[in-house]
Amino acid sequence: DLSRRFHLTSRDELGELAGTFDEMLNRLEAVLSRQRQFTADASHELRTPLSILTLATNRALSGGSKPETYKQALDTIAAYRQEFSLIQAETDHMTRLVNDLLLLARADIEQTILTPASVDMSEVTLEVVERFATLARQRGIDLSFGEFPELCVHGDRLLLTLMVTNLIDNALKYTSGIGNRVFVEGSTAMRGEKAWGRIWIEDNGPGIAEEHQSYLFERFYRVDAARSHASLPVEEEGIQKEITSGSGLGLAIVQWVAQVHQGEIRLRSTVGRGSCFEIWLPLVDGSDSDEGGRKDAL
Ligand code: ADP
Repeated sequence: DLSRRFHLTSRDELGELAGTFDEMLNRLEAVLSRQRQFTADASHELRTPLSILTLATNRALSGGSKPETYKQALDTIAAYRQEFSLIQAETDHMTRLVNDLLLLARADIEQTILTPASVDMSEVTLEVVERFATLARQRGIDLSFGEFPELCVHGDRLLLTLMVTNLIDNALKYTSGIGNRVFVEGSTAMRGEKAWGRIWIEDNGPGIAEEHQSYLFERFYRVDAARSHASLPVEEEGIQKEITSGSGLGLAIVQWVAQVHQGEIRLRSTVGRGSCFEIWLPLVDGSDSDEGGRKDAL
């Protein structure tokens, strides 16, 4: 509250004012340096897929004479199928990255437009699980939806869907191979007087070592640096397997969505045994239709 701080009546208060200025400057510096670091990381992450794209395009274009006939065009496409699919995958990756970055950048400056409504998380979660069913089957992962009561929260359906999507996507991404499973379940829990919804997404994948767990929700943090685009040797073979890696922003978005809904994310994980991400959200009465009066709460 600046107006209160600037009310100067004595020398002592002058000293206090100088202290306040110092404190404000320190805070401003911390914010600016975080912002700069974020921008630097962001552009670094954006440059690598871009250079892969450029490389693949150059290779495709310099590979043969300009196709003048339909047959030539088809031959070119056949000959450079790998490059074309790489271009497509990298473009997809970059689109996701840019979308995630934009969402977080808007969140930082509180410009994300939230459309709050009464949302049943069992519905949202089931939709996401159904969307991933085919992918899970293809990867030989048993994705199952367990007990799930109606969990009504007050929030933005799109963001809540994104939060669940990111967690299930990760569980499937890092859990691979036959015999692996991802289990999704929901329940209610009381905390004091308040009812909370609890959704857990459990996998029996590689797990996450304790020293990484507190950093996991930071932007661009990845446990295995070799999977990261940032450390990708662009000209080497084997880039195909790397294109499945995500943006490194998924869990940062998950945490932000939980916080903006007055909720939280908990993680329990043991290396070699698997991980369990828990979403906790305060519940509202499902029959409550007074949307207007609640907008400020979000
Ligand atoms: P990414 O795009 O790399 O998946 P996230 O922010 O979603 O970024 O996740 C950060 C890191 O946390 C991942 O790179 C991975 O190392 C680790 N991680 C996330 N979910 C899991 C999981 N279910 N099992 C093992 N590791 C995970």
